Formats: sequence, structure tokens, C-alpha cells
Amino acid sequence: MLIAGNWKMYKGPAETAEFCEALRDSDVDDVDVVVCPPYVSLATAVQLLAGTEIGVAAQNVHWEEAGAYTGEISARMLRELGVYGTIVGHSERRQYFGETDETTAKRARAALDAGLFVIACVGETEQEREGGETEAVLRRQVTALGAADENLVVAYEPVWAIGTGKTATPELAQEAHALIKSLLDVPVLYGGSVKPDNAAELLAQPDVDGALVGGASLEIESFTEICRAATPS
Ligand code: PEP
Repeated sequence: MLIAGNWKMYKGPAETAEFCEALRDSDVDDVDVVVCPPYVSLATAVQLLAGTEIGVAAQNVHWEEAGAYTGEISARMLRELGVYGTIVGHSERRQYFGETDETTAKRARAALDAGLFVIACVGETEQEREGGETEAVLRRQVTALGAADENLVVAYEPVWAIGTGKTATPELAQEAHALIKSLLDVPVLYGGSVKPDNAAELLAQPDVDGALVGGASLEIESFTEICRAATPS
């Protein structure tokens, strides 16, 4: 079970320090936990979580090692900072910043080649689900990622469930996860309005291997509650 918190564009270094100190002092050590702060807060998180089992990941990475790519960060730079992994292909990147299946795959491969752990996001929009295209979209997005890798996990994040308070039913999540695993043999996290009160039933599905949590990962209480819901009893 892996619980990853995607902080999006929240928490600068000061708030990151406060959160990481609280997380370090919490009782979430029986489950794999990763936090994904904004770039400017990564060093603080790495420093404060050093010596714990809690990983620190970025929210994106470029596929080149270095070059004239203003505003981008390479996998080598993340490694130098002590960062453990990265998210790629989040739907907000696809929706607002022109990220495609192809660029997502390039980012994922470069990060894996550099030794980073990768959470690659896939998921259909509401329009695609209503149009009966969910399976085709997931097939296209997952196939584009290429081969399985021991450092690769996929996050199934139906776009209509992200930040909306709408969550996929456990059955619907299970169905999508089973499809993804039939295409790529990697662990699959669920993401989309995971909260303390719905985490346990989603995580209980046989093909749900953890969660990628956005909004509820910003408060220490809700995040640790979700981590506890994933802890084996
Ligand atoms: C996310 O950002 O990956 C996410 C799932 O957000 P939320 O939990 O807020 O829906």
C-alpha cells in the first residue's frame, strides 16, 4: 500500500517544514508514504524527512538532462536534491499545460532511467466516460507509457473526480484498475477526492494498491487518517 500526497501549488518551504515535522512525529510507519511538494519546497521536505521511511517526490520532471528549457527541471537535478520520485502526466498538466501521452511517456522514461520512482497518472474526463470511451482512453494512455518497471506505478485518476468531491465507486475503481493491470503489470493507485471517510472502502478493492491524494493531503489530520486507513490491521 502506498499513499502519496500531491500538494499541487500549495505549501512553500515554511508550511512544508511545519507539515513534515508533524508527519515525522505521526504514527504512519506501517504504510509507504510519499509527499509531493512544489519544486521550491522539495529541499526542505528532503531535509526534514531524512532518516524516515517517508519519500519525497516532485510533481513533474523534464526528459532532458539539461538544456535550454526555461522553467523545467531534470531528473538529474531532482536526484541531486535527494528526491525519490516524481509524478508525471497529472490531468492538471494535461488539461492546462498541453501535456500529452507522448510527453508523459518521455518524462516517465527519463525519470526511470535516472533511477527515480514514477507515479504516472491516467484517467478519463467526464465527457469521455459519458461517451462510453473510458476503456479506449485508458488503453491509449497506459499503452503509451511503454514497458513495466519496478519503479513505475500508475495512478488511475478519473478527471471528473479530481478536486470535485465526486469519488468513483469502489466497484468502478476496481474495474478500471483491473483493466490497467491487464495492460501493464504495475501497482495502481486510485486518485480523485479520496478522503478519510471513503479511503478504507476504496483501498479494500483487490486491485487498488494505494491512493494519490490531493486536497486531503494538505492537512496533517486528514492525510494521516488516510494513511492509517491503508495500514494493515
Ligand atoms: C490529485 O491531485 O491527484 C487528486 C486526486 O486531487 P483530489 O484528491 O483533491 O481530488
